[in-house]
Amino acid sequence: MPDPRLLVVEDDADLRSLLTRGLREEGFDVTAVADGASALARAEDGPDLLVIDIGLPDADGRDVCQALRARGATAPVLFLTARDALTDRLAGFNAGGDDYLTKPFHLDELVVRLRALLRRSGADPRTIVGSLHLDPVAHAAASGDQEVSLTPTEFRLLAALVARPDAAVRRRDLVRAAWPEGAIVHENTLDQYVARLRRKLRELDSDTEIVTVHGVGYRIG
Ligand code: CA
Repeated sequence: MPDPRLLVVEDDADLRSLLTRGLREEGFDVTAVADGASALARAEDGPDLLVIDIGLPDADGRDVCQALRARGATAPVLFLTARDALTDRLAGFNAGGDDYLTKPFHLDELVVRLRALLRRSGADPRTIVGSLHLDPVAHAAASGDQEVSLTPTEFRLLAALVARPDAAVRRRDLVRAAWPEGAIVHENTLDQYVARLRRKLRELDSDTEIVTVHGVGYRIG
């Protein structure tokens, strides 16, 4: 299970190394840079989320965010700001930011907010395969800007496949994951649900598909 990839853009060297160390300990795969130009270069790697200081030496963090959005980056952005003026906050959101934190802050609070952003964006790697991502809050599957809603059983079934991308998941494990304990699930019920999920994935134009693994079960990839 890969750690979420986080790009930190902070020119204060002490804070940058503190964030790098602290967030690595919290299970983030951290890359840290000190200015807007480096941020734009490193953002090509497609991080899962970004922390951007608004006061950077070569640019305003909000402009960096806007430039990333203009290039099609959709990863959530949390701004760090030394200022606490309401206008600054609003300008941050207008620039495509998803959350902000005013310095000084506690690392714990940053971690909680980052995890919430990952959950909201569906960018938690445990919920993504290829272009497909699951939104556990909305009980939906999405690809690009398209989204289909799933029944609770469909969602659990898809989540069980997505949790182990490219692995053949046994039929009985899928039944156990998707239906309540003790439920009587007929042999072809699982196949009917998989057929429905395949139809829904096709509606999304996703490049991710559910493949039959004969004698075993199904895999997603
Ligand atoms: Ca700064």
